[in-house]
Amino acid sequence: MTAARIGVDKHRTRFVLELSDKVEFSIFTLADPNRIVIDIAEVDWKIGPGGAEGDGFIERYRYGLFKPGTSRIVLDLKYPVKVDKSFFLPPKKNYPYRFVLDLKKTSQTDFAGNIRKPRKMTLASRPPEPVVESTRSGRTKKLIVLDPGHGGHDPGNLGKNGSSAFPEKTVALTAAQTIKRELERTGRYEVILTRSRDIYVKHRARSGVAHSHQADLFISVHCDSIADSRVRGATVYTLSEKASDREAAALAARENKSDIIAGMDLEAEPDEVQGILIELLQRETMNLSSSFATELVGQLKSSTLLRTRPHRTANLLVLKGLDVPSVLLELGYLTNKTDAALLMQKETQQKIGRSIVRAVDHYFQKNFASN
Ligand SMILES: [Zn+2]
Repeated sequence: MTAARIGVDKHRTRFVLELSDKVEFSIFTLADPNRIVIDIAEVDWKIGPGGAEGDGFIERYRYGLFKPGTSRIVLDLKYPVKVDKSFFLPPKKNYPYRFVLDLKKTSQTDFAGNIRKPRKMTLASRPPEPVVESTRSGRTKKLIVLDPGHGGHDPGNLGKNGSSAFPEKTVALTAAQTIKRELERTGRYEVILTRSRDIYVKHRARSGVAHSHQADLFISVHCDSIADSRVRGATVYTLSEKASDREAAALAARENKSDIIAGMDLEAEPDEVQGILIELLQRETMNLSSSFATELVGQLKSSTLLRTRPHRTANLLVLKGLDVPSVLLELGYLTNKTDAALLMQKETQQKIGRSIVRAVDHYFQKNFASN
């Protein structure tokens, strides 16, 4: 994929992709919010990371690896539209292969009528989850799952007015990789990443990695955004049905959207067996999560700026139903230039990593040092 552009006239918005080869593509629409999804064979992106602002009927577009073998482009729409034409053009003069999509305005009823239910993914077509080999009892090291947020066609937040050179998915991944190295260097911890490249992973698959490996701790790594570009600092979130404040509620709404914008929202959740045992287990997990959050806030003070009230609670899907103590760490704000620049620096990431190591050390000593 070498270029993407939008052309606009009074009645039409044209979306064009330039490619070095011809690829198969499939298009479908999703409502609430209105989107057009274009799936193609896995491609290399030569058009910069994440996504870009749109034009005409297109609010914004995002792209990335959806699953091995399939890349996805999502057009977030300003208005309900219909695909008037879609076609491929062969290379000509200075142009390579081009995929062209012509959009015309339509009514919401019409738009909704064209919605094709996304094909339910079968188990075989899901990204492979790591094979479970070690269980809690057979391990000598504590197992920590680090979860770099977003990925693929879900770039997370992109900062504002060029405040960040990289989208959240990239900052979260490089930071998580550095934190992993810091944890492993101690020789005390084994670390698994929920993703080690730029690929989309569902919330449920993320917590699933921690669950199936019976991990001792789960840390989801993100970067925040807010309208006020002066706001800086890290926040540690733990799960709660009730958000601790309005900002926390807004954060949950943003972070939880990831599965919805990815077009997976129609997939049925499996029935979960509920019982008093699960509830007790969850209470224990919540208490341990809070204990770790307290340690983390205490240690992060020395390596990074923290928000006021740095430990907050929110209803975060990625932490939900998880029987592993878990927190979501917002490293800082990509809407703030200083935070955005610092967070991509190896030195900052290492400092944060070492704070996490100390927090993890204290947490395990405090809660599991009986033997
Ligand atoms: Zn995020």
